Amino acid sequence: MTNLPEAFMDKMKGILGPEYAEFMGCFKNPPYQGLRVNTLKIAPEDFLSIAPFELKPVPWAEAGFYYGNEDRPGKHPYYYAGLYYIQEPSAMAPAELLGVKPGHKVLDLCAAPGGKSFQIAARLKGEGFLLSNEIDASRVIVLGENLERLGVRNVAITQETPGRLAAVFKNYFDRILVDAPCSGEGMFRKRPDMCSVWSYTLPDRLSVRQKSILKHAAEMLAPGGRMVYSTCTFSPEENEGVVDWFLKEHPNFSLVDDVRFRWFDRGVPEWASGNPELAKAYRLWPHKIKGEGHFMALFEKKADGGSSSLPLFYKRRGISKLPLEYERFVKEYMREPIEGYLYMRKEQLYWIPPSLPDLSGLKVLRPGLRLGTIKKGRFIPGHALAMASRKESVVQTIEFSSDSEEVVRYLEGFTLTGFDGKGWVLVTVDGYSLGWGKLSDGMLKNYYPKGLRRVLT
Ligand code: SAM
Repeated sequence: MTNLPEAFMDKMKGILGPEYAEFMGCFKNPPYQGLRVNTLKIAPEDFLSIAPFELKPVPWAEAGFYYGNEDRPGKHPYYYAGLYYIQEPSAMAPAELLGVKPGHKVLDLCAAPGGKSFQIAARLKGEGFLLSNEIDASRVIVLGENLERLGVRNVAITQETPGRLAAVFKNYFDRILVDAPCSGEGMFRKRPDMCSVWSYTLPDRLSVRQKSILKHAAEMLAPGGRMVYSTCTFSPEENEGVVDWFLKEHPNFSLVDDVRFRWFDRGVPEWASGNPELAKAYRLWPHKIKGEGHFMALFEKKADGGSSSLPLFYKRRGISKLPLEYERFVKEYMREPIEGYLYMRKEQLYWIPPSLPDLSGLKVLRPGLRLGTIKKGRFIPGHALAMASRKESVVQTIEFSSDSEEVVRYLEGFTLTGFDGKGWVLVTVDGYSLGWGKLSDGMLKNYYPKGLRRVLT
């Protein structure tokens, strides 16, 4: 059983009263494990027919499933093919609450490692765009790798502070997710290591940061737009307290009561100022649902005043003519090239989401889908292009089955032998892209990115 901080237990006893014993009881049970099927690549029913583990639906999340505690989905080749993302079941709720529709302009302000960005992208179905932002320099790299593996095209990734983004995007986004940095009490059962960074004063200190992030997010939301604030903690200071403060400071915002989320408890007004509106927020308690502890609230901004428009990225910085090297590659190796607007940065060629605004002056990790590198008169296709392509879109494929030794050797980075043919080839597992290889003299040179290679056995 998790070794919980004494002061945390005393505090929970104080706020939960008679329910405390039941709450504590859940720490004796193992946490629930979940994954979300990547609907950008495969329909959930098709995944269920090939799934190597037994899956049961998470009631509040489209394409969300529970898997067993003995299963290791992170070691299966389908994980590397981006057929699913491993995500704690309660963490699937905030992006569902956000109500993203195809064509929306969406900001995920605190995005790494990217589970909720991925959910938003699946909802966009390739239309509109997602700006996925992460302030931390190493976490933003992981965010990029995850969204790349999942084959998300219409996403730009920035590494910015909320304040610097708010200076650019006034009244702009249709939907904003603020999945705030928090004290993580709701994860104590799943991540007992988080207990060691907790202290009694941490929630109060974090609430200052959370208010500042929310204030900037509010500036960026278009009139009539919706915004979700979520945490994975129990403390009232970071939950009802922050929402209460926000409503007082922003009279042009109100809480939305979304009745679809009947599985969850409600916010507790008495844990802040007593404002009855706070009961429109949601509390996910680990002793009441099959998931860890979370909090979320859905805000709407009053629809007075217009939303702002910004110059489009491709109009300002797109290239009008296809680079010759890329044109040659497309002719020889692609059946269905990715059509649209392109942008070159240093040697890198990107596809740009058509509705993406200009990001000048911001720290941009990627402004769209990285197609590849143009170097010494040649085009070298990027991993992102492989992961966003179907086997039908390329001329040559090598197909491995998920239980083959070759697929493991490919993912571990070995050169494979015994193949005919020449040139670029998309390597697949049971028909789903894994990465590039290059054929010559009977050998498959391995282009699976070095940084992603793993020992799987
Ligand atoms: N939404 C993510 C997901 O679903 O994978 C999890 C986000 S995590 C709860 C909160 C993130 O906020 C962290 O990655 C952290 O680096 C970032 N963060 C920390 N301080 C921040 C700040 N001042 N402004 C914006 N983001 C911040």
